[in-house]
Amino acid sequence: MSDRNIIVHRLTRRFGDFTAVDDLSFDVGRGEVFGFLGANGAGKTTAIRMLCGLLRPSSGGAEVAGFDVARRPEQVKRRIGYMSQRFSLYPDLTVQENLQLFGTIYGVRRRALRERIEEMNDRLAMEEWRGLLVGSLPPGWKQKIALAAAMLHRPEVLFLDEPTGGVDPLERRRFWELILDAADGGTTVLVTTHYLDEALYCNRTLIMADGQMKALDRPRTLMERYGARDMDDLFGRLTRGGGE
Ligand code: ATP
Repeated sequence: MSDRNIIVHRLTRRFGDFTAVDDLSFDVGRGEVFGFLGANGAGKTTAIRMLCGLLRPSSGGAEVAGFDVARRPEQVKRRIGYMSQRFSLYPDLTVQENLQLFGTIYGVRRRALRERIEEMNDRLAMEEWRGLLVGSLPPGWKQKIALAAAMLHRPEVLFLDEPTGGVDPLERRRFWELILDAADGGTTVLVTTHYLDEALYCNRTLIMADGQMKALDRPRTLMERYGARDMDDLFGRLTRGGGE
């Protein structure tokens, strides 16, 4: 089996005359945490939706967990977890009920599911929220439960679209511990974030603007290469023009 869990080749998506994702190529290794950075509208969500088998590429393609995303989307969906920006949990079910429902949909057996929900409960310190309706939770907590729901079935590849959006800094740290632990366990993670400092948690980051790749490497290598003070500075330099 390949040690590359995501293989992207010239991936492109057009909406009419507009090209949202423009000729992207990159690979992500098993257990790697791969960051996708870009301003609003750069094309990150569109790229992720194609990699999850939810949107057909206009040209080019990708393999995720060994399957072609356009030809075998059902196989891809079975092997991934996806936390979308759009809130995906059921507001009128409790935290516990949501986790049970998502675990069951993803095919986790009852006993394993019980154990994993307990484990999430401990890791995320969610005991006091467990019996509450998801619709009544503060935004940061909704994000946490959505992250837990995407990870319960221990997917081979995890796509996280701004998992920490709206989450306070201390809690963001806890999110990242969970994400990094999943990667240590062999899960491949592709994550987008608006918090540029979070790029430093990633093994490599791809910086995107106007649908195109502007740079791809280890974050510290990129900062050195472009003489940037920090990730904000690097991001500004690359998305104002230039790039590789
Ligand atoms: P954000 O961080 O705001 O989610 P993003 O980098 O994820 O931004 P996308 O959501 O992928 O960006 O959007 C890229 C571009 O494609 C945007 O200009 C958006 O308006 C456009 N776009 C996305 N989906 C569609 C669609 N179904 N039809 C037309 N245009 C679309």
